[in-house]
Amino acid sequence: MSRELLVVQRARESFRTGKTKPLENRVQQLKSLLLFITERRSDITDAVKRDLGKSALGTELFETLGLEGEINLAIEKLAEWEAPRPVEKSLLTISDEVYIQPEPLGLVLIIGAWNYPWAITLQPLVGAIAAGNAAVIKPSEVSSHSAKVMKELLPQYLDKDLYPVVTGGALETQELLKQRFDHIFYTGSSGVGKLVMAAAAPHLTPVTLELGGKSPCYIDKDCDIPVACRRITWGKFVNCGQTCIAPDFILCEPSIQSRVVEEIKKCIKEFYTDNPETFEDYGRIINQRHFRRIMALMEGSTVAVGGTSDESQCYIAPTVLKDVTGESKVMKEEIFGPLLPIITVSGVDEAIQFMNEREKPLVIYVFSHDNKLIKRVIAETSSGALLANDCLVHYTVSALPFGGVGNSGMGCYHGRHSFDQLSHLRSCLIKQLKMEGVNSMRYPPHTAKKLGW
Ligand code: NAD
Repeated sequence: MSRELLVVQRARESFRTGKTKPLENRVQQLKSLLLFITERRSDITDAVKRDLGKSALGTELFETLGLEGEINLAIEKLAEWEAPRPVEKSLLTISDEVYIQPEPLGLVLIIGAWNYPWAITLQPLVGAIAAGNAAVIKPSEVSSHSAKVMKELLPQYLDKDLYPVVTGGALETQELLKQRFDHIFYTGSSGVGKLVMAAAAPHLTPVTLELGGKSPCYIDKDCDIPVACRRITWGKFVNCGQTCIAPDFILCEPSIQSRVVEEIKKCIKEFYTDNPETFEDYGRIINQRHFRRIMALMEGSTVAVGGTSDESQCYIAPTVLKDVTGESKVMKEEIFGPLLPIITVSGVDEAIQFMNEREKPLVIYVFSHDNKLIKRVIAETSSGALLANDCLVHYTVSALPFGGVGNSGMGCYHGRHSFDQLSHLRSCLIKQLKMEGVNSMRYPPHTAKKLGW
């Protein structure tokens, strides 16, 4: 029997004992998860430093803070989320008890990605625990130091049988995917997302797919360009552009392109100094495979800012590319690195058309003073989320469902959405065995007299 099969079997058997059902057990596991993050903070930040060259404060700001917030929210709201939800009744059921009762799905498989290895792997786990499930956790092998720490230390805090960590790459994940799960929560590329969905199909296992894509960013010529560029520079170059919701490219009119370039250049200098390579708040590309992939995307485009690199360090400078077209190499796939192409369009009409000719992205960003223009982009496009005049911050709002649409994913999570996503929302109707008279009209023989017609 393979190691993966054993782990899955043990987690399922453990779920069947019913120990995830009592709320106090779920709360206790959530508190242990919180304790893990608090007590092992330096193990976590050291691992991310080794994986992505990120500073400890950067990891706390972009990974553990949000994670702790989600755990605390789940602890506070769990009783409310889990309680029966009464619904509006029909005339026929007016004296019945009619409600939705969330129930655990069973065993969840969580497959994580490497770019924010802790937040992306453990936030779905918060939902899985809160909803009363068991979960097999498969962190990305690409962020190997984080995966190792997770495998070694998490079982010291959580129930080992209910929440095992399995490490490994494509082969081990495929082995896991042969097993039957009650839900698969996958974060990663759209290509592997398709494999995950195909593997889920024979078992009719529902999936949540948190994928990527090219999130466009339209800058209206009448907006406050310095402020817009400051927020875009932050959203793009944090984690060296290895953020699923980073603005992938800019659309703007030709008349403002050089101003946009100049403003972003100023912000890069302000945020990361003249020499980002030696600055601790600017990280590294995860590995040489991705380094080469990103460098190759620059071919054929004009570098307006940055463009330098060091393969031995997996370093690529924050880079702006100008006069890019929809046909350029950099526009053929999600960049997922520190390159920011600018494509000029004649105005918002062409920008909307450009967006609608492509796959639905995870986010559309719009920068404008004009609320009508913003509302128009909302009305005439589709994406997982739309953000006006800022970048990334929707991620921090637990009340907003976080997820994609079409090629950028399916399903959503964060806050109560995680709980609902990993629960079965069961319809319950309880009728009394009395008042049989009112039911007579539905029993045959159906006569006009009985119906009062
Ligand atoms: P990755 O290489 O870490 O792969 C993701 C997971 O899939 C890993 O656990 C890996 O082991 C597994 N995997 C890889 N190949 C596989 C295969 N052939 N069969 C089965 N499993 C396999 O991560 P990635 O795919 O490079 O991640 C980057 C992508 O993830 C980007 O597209 C990014 O936008 C997206 N992403 C999305 C979100 C989101 O919340 N929507 C968050 C982070 C990243």
